Amino acid sequence: MSAGGEGICIRNVAKRYGSTVALDGIELDIQPGEVLGIAGPNGAGKSTLIRIIAGEERPDSGTLTFDGQPWFPSIDWHQVAVVHQEPQLFPNLTVAENVLVGREGTRVVRPRLGLEDAGVMQALGIGALRDRLLGDCTLATQQRTEIARAVAREARVFLFDEPNSALTDEESDELFREMHKLAGEGRIVLLVTHRLGDLVDHAARVAVIRDGKVRTVIGKAELTEEAIAEQLVVGIGGEPVATTARSAEIGREILKVSNWSHGSEFEAVDFSAAHGEIVALMGVEGSGARELLRSFAGLERCSGTIRIDGAEGGRVFHRTAFVPATRAESLYSNFSVGENLVVRLGTPEIAGSLLALKKKRIRALAEEARQRFLVKTRTLAQGIRSLSGGNQQKVAIAQALVTAPRLVLLEEPTRGVDIQSKREIYRLLREFAAAGNAVVMFCTEVLEIFEAADRAIVVSDGRLSAPLKVSDFPHIEALAAAITRLERHIRLGGVEGEAA
Ligand code: ADP
Repeated sequence: MSAGGEGICIRNVAKRYGSTVALDGIELDIQPGEVLGIAGPNGAGKSTLIRIIAGEERPDSGTLTFDGQPWFPSIDWHQVAVVHQEPQLFPNLTVAENVLVGREGTRVVRPRLGLEDAGVMQALGIGALRDRLLGDCTLATQQRTEIARAVAREARVFLFDEPNSALTDEESDELFREMHKLAGEGRIVLLVTHRLGDLVDHAARVAVIRDGKVRTVIGKAELTEEAIAEQLVVGIGGEPVATTARSAEIGREILKVSNWSHGSEFEAVDFSAAHGEIVALMGVEGSGARELLRSFAGLERCSGTIRIDGAEGGRVFHRTAFVPATRAESLYSNFSVGENLVVRLGTPEIAGSLLALKKKRIRALAEEARQRFLVKTRTLAQGIRSLSGGNQQKVAIAQALVTAPRLVLLEEPTRGVDIQSKREIYRLLREFAAAGNAVVMFCTEVLEIFEAADRAIVVSDGRLSAPLKVSDFPHIEALAAAITRLERHIRLGGVEGEAA
């Protein structure tokens, strides 16, 4: 596997964004004929690497070769196809037109579907759908159209980026068959996914990326879900936040759902979160974990019973606060830091008959929140967008907590947040729980669970595992392995509470 060999060789590729090092000297060989898996925690640099191989970004330094020749994907972009979870096609064109998009034509003469194109579409099972508007097709068909378009333009490199998180099991099986076929025909196939089972079943080797470097490449013989899970967290063993305060006094239930069912994501779930506790729901996209969390905030239609802080029925959600994963959903980008801090407070808190009084009150409340939530800002009047990502996230969480909820629900609370802010966020959540409230968060990373949660419940295919008590695990590697075992156990049809 020397540089200059067959396939793509990536040597010492680095990429920075401002002061953030996204890639820190990537070394990777990708051979034709195999599916190469890529795994890495959030922020590891996977998407940046994909964008570089796809020619959408240029590296700051380092080299790429393809079959021994220097290779510049930004020039040879047509050789590369990225198959996304959300296909990037034209919904108002037909399947066939999408396959042809980008091909030379004139305003009068449209490019025509050639025999080869038709053959490609037939082989991908979308021949019969050629005249259907793409927007009316299933996601699986849209992805096939994306693949057909790339095959028709003779792309040699296929990058699959979390391609099956929204597919059914059957659609997903078919997609993998297609992936193996592309590899079998001598193309380069890369699969980036958080689904460890898929990596074990379908990749010949798995490269694990952490902090912008390929830390290890696991070969077929050693390829197990546990081996990948452990490599994902090796050496990043942060410390649990305020271990002493944790789980000392876990009291009565604040949230309790029974027989809780959603149309498509989960069924007959029983779950509770108690006074003083931080519970993590761990799952990949499509597992149902995210929807379950959102349902506790009243954002998904569910049946069954829900009880929050003793209340049942109509106003059950009024003492919960929800913090979505994307800050764009929670922050008002054209408001100041101060305005964002108080925007969720209802009228009694900030209304006053005299405008001046109201303003003063708002300022005082905002100042109090700024201090309590450790928001680093020069003034309260500056725009929210001037803050760092971590401080914006603190404002998003502050917004929710100032409303004095009993239950706070967070989606990936520290995604894309620097380490300092992350620790502060965990401390704020811990203090909030310790004051007699409950926190439930949706997590995709073991590190978040290890550092912040008391209990973790793994969700897969809408089913929940028995809870893991985080303090039972002295090392993050052991927790990662246990979570992986539980996930596989439920995925393979295990029953809740059974030993994994
Ligand atoms: P992954 O796909 O593994 O989650 P990314 O490649 O998205 O990781 O990100 C790697 C690092 O680079 C992260 O710290 C991320 O915040 C940063 N990053 C990625 N893209 C950009 C960008 N366009 N601008 C600034 N920072 C970025």
